[in-house]
Amino acid sequence: MDKNVEWYQQNRVEKTIQNLQKNNMEGYFVQDEKELIEKIEELVKDGDTVSVGGSMTLFEAGVMEHLRSSRYNFLDRYKEGLTKDDIKNIYRKSFCTDTYFMSTNALTENGELFNIDGNGNRVAALIYGPDQVIIVAGINKIVADLEEAESRVKNCAAPINAKRLNKNTPCTKVGYCVDCHSDDRICSHYVVTRRQNLGNKGRIKVIIVNKELGY
Ligand code: SF4
Repeated sequence: MDKNVEWYQQNRVEKTIQNLQKNNMEGYFVQDEKELIEKIEELVKDGDTVSVGGSMTLFEAGVMEHLRSSRYNFLDRYKEGLTKDDIKNIYRKSFCTDTYFMSTNALTENGELFNIDGNGNRVAALIYGPDQVIIVAGINKIVADLEEAESRVKNCAAPINAKRLNKNTPCTKVGYCVDCHSDDRICSHYVVTRRQNLGNKGRIKVIIVNKELGY
C-alpha cells in the first residue's frame, strides 16, 4: 500500500478505536487473517459456546473455519442438513452463548455501528444476550458518520446481499435501494449502536482488519 494512504488509514482506524472506547466498546486493529485469529484466540476461551450472525466477512477472513475446529462448542447455523426448526433453535440458543461473532454493515469514525437486518436475529443478539460480541470488520466498512453509513448500506451492501441471496427486489435490477415494498425485502430492521451501558462496558469488541472484507 502507498505510504500516504497507509498513514491516512492508520489515522482513521485510530480515531475509530478511540471513539469506540468512549462508547464503552473495545477496538483492535490487526493486519491480516493470521493476526485476526490470534486475537480471537486471546479473547475466547477454549471450550466456550460460540455462534455467528450471517456474514460474508466471517467466511472470507477464515473465522468460520476456525470456529469449526474442535476448540469451541460452536452452534453452527450453516451445518448441512439442518431443518428450519433446527436453525430457529440455534438462533434462540445464540442469545445464551459466551461469544457471538458477526460483522457490521458499517462502522463510523465516531465509534458507532450501523446494521440492517431482515430476520432480526443478528441485531437482536448484538443488542442483548451473548456475554461477548466480537465484530470482525474489514477496513472498507469504516465510514465518516451515520449518514454515510446508511448511504453505504442502502446503495452498496444491501443490493449486493439481495443479489447474492437471489431476491426478487428492485435493487437486484437497478443496483441501489428504492425502499421497496417487495415480499423479498431483506431490510427490515435498521439498528444504530451508539454506545454500550457502563454495566456492559467491553461486551462488544470490534476487530478491524487491514483488508477489504465482505460488502
Ligand atoms: S429496501 Fe428493498 S430495494 Fe432497498 S436494499 Fe432493501 S431489498 Fe433492496
